[in-house]
Amino acid sequence: MEKILTAAALILLISVYSFTEEVSTEMISINEIIETTGAEFRWDPFRFLGELSLSDQTVIFQPGIPFLLINYSEKTETVSVVRGREGGIYFSREGADIIIDLFSSVSVPVSIVKVKAIIIDPGHGGKDPGAVGRFHLDDGQFELKEKDVVLSVAMNVAERLKSTYSDKQVILTRSTDEFISLEQRTVIANSIELGENEAIIFVSVHANASLNPRANGFEVWYLPPEYRRDLLDDSTIESELSDVVPILNTMLEEEITVESILLAQSIQKGLTVSIGDKIEDRGLKEESWFVVRKAKMPAVLVELGFITNQKEALTLRDESYLKKVGEGIYNGISGFINHFEMQYFPGE
Ligand SMILES: [Zn+2]
Repeated sequence: MEKILTAAALILLISVYSFTEEVSTEMISINEIIETTGAEFRWDPFRFLGELSLSDQTVIFQPGIPFLLINYSEKTETVSVVRGREGGIYFSREGADIIIDLFSSVSVPVSIVKVKAIIIDPGHGGKDPGAVGRFHLDDGQFELKEKDVVLSVAMNVAERLKSTYSDKQVILTRSTDEFISLEQRTVIANSIELGENEAIIFVSVHANASLNPRANGFEVWYLPPEYRRDLLDDSTIESELSDVVPILNTMLEEEITVESILLAQSIQKGLTVSIGDKIEDRGLKEESWFVVRKAKMPAVLVELGFITNQKEALTLRDESYLKKVGEGIYNGISGFINHFEMQYFPGE
């Protein structure tokens, strides 16, 4: 509304001022301003109005009207805007400086890396059930297998990703109860051909097990080689880490990247929002250092909770809960993609 009123006010002013004037040699042409700032120019021939815009900043002007209108609201001090006899538009030095200053403060999103494929890797399968929990309840006993829980969650995540990212390959390493070796999972990841600025996201989904029946909570691992070495050297490795070690060794020859950490953080945040009221967050498993390097494959491993904890096993067999888990992981991945694909640089 404000925009329309302002435009109307400018139109009224047309009759007061003349349009074409002599262009002094000190004046700056609109082409020069466009070249300097990268702004977009639109001209309304009916209302004789020009508009320069960049991101969310806009300047409206009219040849012959001695001010600029900034962002539909703010009128500048007197500046000269003229239309030369050959049709070009020129601004006085002060006017040009105001426009250039305004646009130079704008941040322009620049896409530098594209996620080409997202691999969702439900752990285990077939002859390998992963962790198994067996519990006796009043109404009988039940058994829960990691391979089933993680498949359900992984398929849910993949479905959500597919409907959002039609431009990306969304690949499940398995979509049935079949055995897939770690080597085969690696082959799947490595079979995707990447261009210069393309990357793969790899998210492995597991559930935890512990000899301690009270061990509980979800955790997200990112996978630095330094950590891998620590794990293997550490004689105090707890049994629940047994999942992680072979995957660290087999899957992830890539160097630790800051992207892996960001992906892990983003998934942790997504899970906290979706299921944080039902399950404890055991945090990120991370090292204090990392090598900043462009990632080919940011990779993380999510442990959904403890199959061996009766309370968690009961939630993990609830399909509606697993959908919430899927939602959390999906939100984490898409949050990461938004960050990863768009880097903001201040305008020059
Ligand atoms: Zn596992």
